[in-house]
Amino acid sequence: MAQKQVQRVRIAIQWGFLLFSLYLGATFYRFVLHFRSGGATPFVARPDGVEAFLPISALVSLKGWIASGAVNTVHPAALMIFLAALLVSLLAKRAFCSWVCPVSTVTELFWKIGHKLFGRNFQVTPWLDWMVRPVKYLLLLFFLFSIMLMMSPERVNTFILSDYNKTADVKMLDFFLHLSGTPLTVIVTLLLLSVFFRNPFCRYLCPYGALLGLLSRLSPVKVQRSESACVSCGSCNKACPSHIDVMHKERVCSEECIGCLRCVSSCPEPEALQMRLKGGKVVSGMLVAAVVLVIMVGASVVGRATGHWHSAVEKSEYQRLITK
Ligand code: SF4
Ligand code: SF4
Repeated sequence: MAQKQVQRVRIAIQWGFLLFSLYLGATFYRFVLHFRSGGATPFVARPDGVEAFLPISALVSLKGWIASGAVNTVHPAALMIFLAALLVSLLAKRAFCSWVCPVSTVTELFWKIGHKLFGRNFQVTPWLDWMVRPVKYLLLLFFLFSIMLMMSPERVNTFILSDYNKTADVKMLDFFLHLSGTPLTVIVTLLLLSVFFRNPFCRYLCPYGALLGLLSRLSPVKVQRSESACVSCGSCNKACPSHIDVMHKERVCSEECIGCLRCVSSCPEPEALQMRLKGGKVVSGMLVAAVVLVIMVGASVVGRATGHWHSAVEKSEYQRLITK
């Protein structure tokens, strides 16, 4: 597949996941509305995929799974989707961030608009970038410390079975439906910043991305440059949303590489820049797309087949929890 077409495929997959997320959100809204309206609106089945938006619950579930060997029955889909994102990062860098995550899709749209408006995106000064970039790791450390280290198996169990966790998805929906004050200001600020800078939320604040980035160091594939074929045109550096100095690297080993392949697509020399396995074998963009799709869709298929997808929370319990 021509390198340029890889970007069309990536964007199509990104937007496919974004639209699917919106569909899940709308369906989940109708599910909640049924209970809140006292049954005046029709009942729709709760879409389990909405649990993709419960990363903290997924991390607690992971701890519970490691401790007991059992997948919890409250939000099993959250754990399956979380494991899928980890697996994508282990195999194909942070491709989850650039091929799947709806937040990244929206911010990418914003910085592309900014690029059209100003003819360029801006870059945070190196010292400020260096100072702010650790924030996402500190947030990750906080979650890993308080959940993976400090929570006992009993507390994990109590949390998983709590009413709070059972309605974490409803709280998330309400959060977005009633955005105001500080959360609204933060989101609008981040979106505005995204017009000027590339992916500021992913680069500085997202603990999910930080975790995937650290795991991606173990990935067997990396963007690799051939010194002899490279003509030092700088296109790869300009294309990289993570501001990696691809042009002067032999192999891009950075945890900031989100596996978007924009550098590869922008390279005018066919042999100069490729995603490659450690042994040198080229990994095509189409293969990256296939890995991402198979793992993300496969999580749902495997979850359903093994009984780890549908929540065991009964309709009558949702009735009690949502209307209380
Ligand atoms: S190095 Fe290439 S694949 Fe990695 S983030 Fe930059 S443009 Fe994307
Ligand atoms: S885009 Fe390709 S040819 Fe140009 S500097 Fe990067 S690797 Fe070298």
